[in-house]
Amino acid sequence: MCGIVGYLGYRDAYPVLTDGLKQLEYRGYDSAGVALSDDRGNLRVYKEKGKVADLENYAADKDKSGHLGIAHTRWATHGEPCARNAHPHVSASGRFAIVHNGIIENYPVLRTNLEAKGYVFQSSTDTEALVQLIDYIAAQTASDTVSVLQTALKMVVGAYAVALIDRNSPDRLYAARKSSPLAVGIGESEFFIASDMNPISCYTDKVVYLEDGEIAEMSCAGGLRIVNLDNAECSHEIHKVPKNLGMVQKGGFEHFMLKEIFEQPDCIRDCMRGRVNPGDKTVTLSSVREFRDRLLSAGRFIIVACGTSWHAGLIGKQLLESLCRIPAEVVYASEFRYSNPVIHDTDVVVAISQSGETADTLAAIELAKQKGAFIYGICNAVGSSIPRITDAGSYIHAGPEIGVASTKAFTGQVAVLVMLALDLAREKGTIDDICYARTVEALDSIPDKMKSVLKENGRIASLAKIFTYARNFIYLGRGYSYPVALEGALKLKEISYIHAEGYPAAEMKHGPIALIDDEMPVVIIAAGNALYDKILNNVQEIKARKGRVIAIVTEGDDVISKIADTVIEIPQTEECLTPLLSVIPLQMLAYHIAVCKGKDVDRPRNLAKSVTVE
Ligand code: GLU
Repeated sequence: MCGIVGYLGYRDAYPVLTDGLKQLEYRGYDSAGVALSDDRGNLRVYKEKGKVADLENYAADKDKSGHLGIAHTRWATHGEPCARNAHPHVSASGRFAIVHNGIIENYPVLRTNLEAKGYVFQSSTDTEALVQLIDYIAAQTASDTVSVLQTALKMVVGAYAVALIDRNSPDRLYAARKSSPLAVGIGESEFFIASDMNPISCYTDKVVYLEDGEIAEMSCAGGLRIVNLDNAECSHEIHKVPKNLGMVQKGGFEHFMLKEIFEQPDCIRDCMRGRVNPGDKTVTLSSVREFRDRLLSAGRFIIVACGTSWHAGLIGKQLLESLCRIPAEVVYASEFRYSNPVIHDTDVVVAISQSGETADTLAAIELAKQKGAFIYGICNAVGSSIPRITDAGSYIHAGPEIGVASTKAFTGQVAVLVMLALDLAREKGTIDDICYARTVEALDSIPDKMKSVLKENGRIASLAKIFTYARNFIYLGRGYSYPVALEGALKLKEISYIHAEGYPAAEMKHGPIALIDDEMPVVIIAAGNALYDKILNNVQEIKARKGRVIAIVTEGDDVISKIADTVIEIPQTEECLTPLLSVIPLQMLAYHIAVCKGKDVDRPRNLAKSVTVE
């Protein structure tokens, strides 16, 4: 959540900062701001409610010179989104400007103490308490900026990635992190900082990822110095990253979300490359090879995740239990971390996160590590925090996902979980050769089948027009399709703001059926399900109460197609692979309903892509 960009060097800082913010806008977009410093330390701060484009309009006729600056696109945690609460925040003396990602949890006490000392706060944010604290310590101690930061950060409880400029050191840029991501890009006589690699990668391929409790001091003359809060020098590895990561364009699609829905066949192909061998019908994950004994001796798998990744985790649980006969649990990372969970050192914890930065999932991993579990990460963002702290893992290789509502990352996560379960099942001997080969073959044909599902896009766009009236939706599925029902409902909620709930289909009569009337759309996933007859009964029950049924069925289904109001067909596949196909019409339905309702599909209200606060 929230995007941070900083620059120090020979270029004009302003365009570097605003171009960078645009590439981070998926992280938060309720307000944006920039602080620029000239060579004598004069600060200019511009802030505006809304998107980066609104900030650019506001700053259009202002002085934007300076080769040092910090910038921020906000996802408010404390204080409404408005220009006053937007970052950067400037300290009372005017000496320091800060941008911050995260939450200063003890800000009420810090603020009260500082107010008692005469500090007058300009905003309602938690962040301002930190910059005023820095100001106060600097005034009291007359120490150098890094020492001041060390003292201040030791007093802070919470999570932060911060970038700071100090009017007294106009040749220096400062950054620090704890629990929120921050990368430092090293160019020729210039430095960049950013919340992820995207804004940096168009200037340099050399990057250092700050670790928790580290402070970076950058100056063109002195280079990069990293110390911890106790002032010990920290060695830092310089990573090489591909250039121009962030140059993601919409490629002719109206929105990133639609582009990403359509990218799914290629993403799944990329995800399987080198792992699925259609020739001899085998699946090999390198992590399974490397940590075979540890994984095979697991007494239990615990999947921790949030949001869409949690839905992928529910599918993972079924795969691990049915194919590998390993007990598996799925837990919301936010609940896991505070539940004093029973964890054995024989457990494997699978952490799933698109961004690899999800704060709750990171905390869950730390807890599980302390208790001796083996940690397996499933992430998309290469080089992000989770892959760096896990024992093993698999990237999904879906490429940058910009649309806030996750689509291709979900199918990528499911594809990795399928491969993990198949590889482990084969090694454990819990799957027979015929079933294994048939599933591998079916997996290999998923990208082509996805393409045929995508051909339904036009028809689903027309269908969406009918449902813009709806204020509620119900999604039903059983077995592997139950998590898909949850995911379909979440997509609709996220981007169209229509209330939607997903249920296991048979649960309907234990409550939700009371909601069904002639206005209630019910999406039911009936494709590829061993319990087809039971689902057919559910469809009858809904129709008997005049509900409007949209059924996802297997091609050639001539039973439910006759009863449902609308039918969307998907190709036949193995039951455990059905989610990879059945979720696509639900993604398209949510997308088109949101477009018909005129919503900002790629940047839905109140949401952010990478949830780096708990
Ligand atoms: N907690 C800070 C605020 O509400 C920072 C939020 C963010 O990460 O954007 O301003």
